Amino acid sequence: MIRLSGLHKSFGPLQVLKGVDVTLEEGKVLVIIGPSGSGKTTLLRCFNLLEVPDKGDISLGGISLSFDGKKLPKKDVLALRQKTGMVFQSYNLFPHMTALGNVMEGQVTVQKLSKEEARKRALELLVKVGLADKADSYPHQLSGGQQQRVAIARAMATEPELLLFDEPTSALDPELVGEVLKVIRELASEGMTMVIVTHEMKFAADVADTLIMMDGGVITEQGTPDQVLNHSSNPRTLQFLNRFV
Ligand code: ADP
Repeated sequence: MIRLSGLHKSFGPLQVLKGVDVTLEEGKVLVIIGPSGSGKTTLLRCFNLLEVPDKGDISLGGISLSFDGKKLPKKDVLALRQKTGMVFQSYNLFPHMTALGNVMEGQVTVQKLSKEEARKRALELLVKVGLADKADSYPHQLSGGQQQRVAIARAMATEPELLLFDEPTSALDPELVGEVLKVIRELASEGMTMVIVTHEMKFAADVADTLIMMDGGVITEQGTPDQVLNHSSNPRTLQFLNRFV
């Protein structure tokens, strides 16, 4: 069970998270929706401490951390980060490494696997995301959809307990969105625990076990996709969802 409770986060005077509670069971998919600027990405980045909360608690993969404004020991940050893998909007692949090199990197540097072991597992992951034939290609030789699939393989390479996706398709041309969503759907069906920020409402409805709607730094709605998308009576939720009709 992953639990974030009472999370607060400000950037200077701007309060971005105003007391957020989230729980997620192993093997489940949590999708975060909501208007731009509502705090979705900040919340997602708290799961792996790319943003450190000012206040609150995080419990993930057997690690429990409390935040009170003091600087955390680096080992705690690294320990938590190793439990997670992250996929960014803009792929963030290493440009000077091939697809295979990108997927191997974390296994060699973080997990200390031998190059042979890392290469074997990286190739398996590239097969899984449908890119076995692109192992030796550099990012600039790949389409956005292919780069994002490499990024997913890379995020999985260190065998994280939780995968985090920050608007994984919003930088893609529309015709490339489907191939990335297909890979994420397959991971969901295999029981990968995931938190996904997305504006793809149909995908959100399909893949989420729990849907969270954020607005103004708080969770305004939480439930199954059907509850949130079809049975909400919250005016702000309805206003937001109307944009996608
Ligand atoms: P969303 O993902 O819902 O669009 P974000 O979490 O990205 O929202 O941002 C919420 C608010 O916090 C926005 O007003 C954004 O400008 C601000 N913000 C996010 N990150 C930073 C940062 N590192 N420094 C200052 N302000 C930030």
